[in-house]
Amino acid sequence: MPSPIDIASQVPLAAPATLKKLEKLGIRRRFDFILHLPLRYEDETHVYPIASAPYGKAVLVEGEVISSEVQFKPRRQLVVQIEDSSGTLILRFIHFYPSQQKALAKGKRVRALAEVRRGFFGDEMVHPKLREVAADEALADSLTPIYPTLSGLTQPVLRRMIQGELKAQQLDETLPAALIARLGLVPFADAVRLLHAPPPELSAEALSNPLLPAWQRLKFDELLAQQLSMRLAYRARRSGKAPVIVGDQSLRQQLISRLPFALTGAQQKVLAEITADLALAHPMNRLLQGDVGSGKTVVAAMAALSAIEAGFQVALMAPTEILAEQHYAKLSAWLEPLGVKVAWLSGSLRKKARSEMNALIASGEARLAVGTHALFQDEVSFEKLGLVIVDEQHRFGVGQRLALQGKGAEPHQLMMTATPIPRTLAMSFYADLDVSVIDELPPGRTPIVTKLISAARRDEVVAYVNKTCSEGQQVYWVCPLIEESETLELQTAVDTHLGLSEDLPHWQVGLVHGRMKAAEKAEAMAAFSRNETQVLVATTVIEVGVDVPNASLMVIEHAERMGLAQLHQLRGRVGRGAAKSTCVLLFESKLSDLAKARLRVIFEHTDGFEIARQDLLIRGPGEFLGARQSGLPMLRFANLEEDVALLESAREMAPVLLEKSPASASAHLARWLAGREHFLKA
Ligand code: ADP
Ligand code: MG
Repeated sequence: MPSPIDIASQVPLAAPATLKKLEKLGIRRRFDFILHLPLRYEDETHVYPIASAPYGKAVLVEGEVISSEVQFKPRRQLVVQIEDSSGTLILRFIHFYPSQQKALAKGKRVRALAEVRRGFFGDEMVHPKLREVAADEALADSLTPIYPTLSGLTQPVLRRMIQGELKAQQLDETLPAALIARLGLVPFADAVRLLHAPPPELSAEALSNPLLPAWQRLKFDELLAQQLSMRLAYRARRSGKAPVIVGDQSLRQQLISRLPFALTGAQQKVLAEITADLALAHPMNRLLQGDVGSGKTVVAAMAALSAIEAGFQVALMAPTEILAEQHYAKLSAWLEPLGVKVAWLSGSLRKKARSEMNALIASGEARLAVGTHALFQDEVSFEKLGLVIVDEQHRFGVGQRLALQGKGAEPHQLMMTATPIPRTLAMSFYADLDVSVIDELPPGRTPIVTKLISAARRDEVVAYVNKTCSEGQQVYWVCPLIEESETLELQTAVDTHLGLSEDLPHWQVGLVHGRMKAAEKAEAMAAFSRNETQVLVATTVIEVGVDVPNASLMVIEHAERMGLAQLHQLRGRVGRGAAKSTCVLLFESKLSDLAKARLRVIFEHTDGFEIARQDLLIRGPGEFLGARQSGLPMLRFANLEEDVALLESAREMAPVLLEKSPASASAHLARWLAGREHFLKA
């Protein structure tokens, strides 16, 4: 990765402090100046007469200072009056330096740029951009670009550096002429020159239009670089070595014959995709996507058995202890009767138990190890690890995924998620993965009815809980998420548990929260799944993966505080049995617009894909990508929703370029990603 030293040798005149700031702005190489594009433009090409300067946009005026004084009421401020042949204008400064005061002495001629507002004493500008000028000083002949910068690095300094680089550098074309012509793109050099130094005839509006050919060119180039690097990462993986895994079906057939249900067509299809991958000599990197309740666990079990049949070990990792425990309970119930030893590993295991488990894994006696990220601590070593399964992969950070790849020879990887990836993300940030989708729910599910109810009607909801229990069904009651304070969140859960126990004297009410010991949590969950408790009060720890088919009502308090993915996941805890299921979202009145938008989406949609798409629209990709994104270079210019057409052509062109003009492809990558490619392999 280029260090700041690179730029120090390349920009010899800049001071070390400036270099630091440049680096923070992402400017590490001389070429990065070229890609540091303006945020917006200011118009200093035209001076308005003071009397007819329009409101509502920044305008430039010029005049002579006729008075300048520091006033002390209502607070200390510098008030300056300027005059031209048409009228006078007040310039007001709340913060000012003595030097500014001097520059604004009576008799000076200045140009001021800002929006004009109506003030109590007439028209005024607050904190205008100012410059002292000579009487006949020439105006700028084009718009002035305003760049993203940091305090201490002023616009004029940064602008001068960028303009210097624009003149000094070659700005070669990275793409073949035929490609440029075919896509109707403008040349790269023209595009960046236009954006950094716009010609006089272009207005600020025209320049900020994303459809401007210059912007289109930059967006395309950026998307193309992303596609190229994803393809290369994909190829690199394909050239890596992994064990060829072909099982003899013996264990899988036994499991199938013991299951109380038949696999759905969708489950069979994804299993076929997975086993085909396992039989190849390079590492699988497959994402298994299936909405909540679609039956991913049994697919994981079958995939694990294929590897175990072939003599390999399998590790299954889940993001939370509760979820890992559930997997352990289910998988050991399925696999141990087949003579497959399953080990359990979590951070909360005592030292002795942990070293016993480690021994089982190291000797190969345990064929499957289930656990939290404790599975990938240094002390754990597998005898013959062939497959790693990661549940709810979006919850893990890039770092954890890397650690897992570093274990021994490269194992195959299957990641499972209930959070569907919207199409544009699948085509861009996730393009290095293979994806399997379970697009069908197991039969016999009844759709979940979602109700939005004001918290003021909580009593009615409690009555409904009572009724549901009388009908032999069970209920989840999810306490509010309190981001600021875990202690408060815990307290609320404890209070809710007490309150509901009193309100529901005929029923047993359980409690599970994040601060409980693992064994207590597991016990609370087990009691609920045995129907010893009919109501389970929980903090959001039950978010993922919990499976109790007899639960048919989910109540979520303060639903307005939760994200869409979380609400969808929670709601998916019900609707797993034959009974009609309901999800009640309690909300406090005075909803923010964002909360309203989210609740509307969750009320109107049950399809996880649609919810994820809406989520992307509401939040933008940055947050959606979450952990996967940390450290990945984000798109700076392109916008996945707006620029789908460009994304599609970049996707189409990337393989063509790699094939037909590899030199162009590497020049293009070097220009756009220099030194950051390694992030993409995470
Ligand atoms: P998720 O995809 O959310 O992890 P699970 O694997 O927990 O879903 O499965 C949800 C429920 O559906 C479980 O009770 C599971 O046993 C059941 N299930 C899975 N596959 C089938 C099937 N083919 N037919 C009927 N029920 C199934
Ligand atoms: Mg699951």
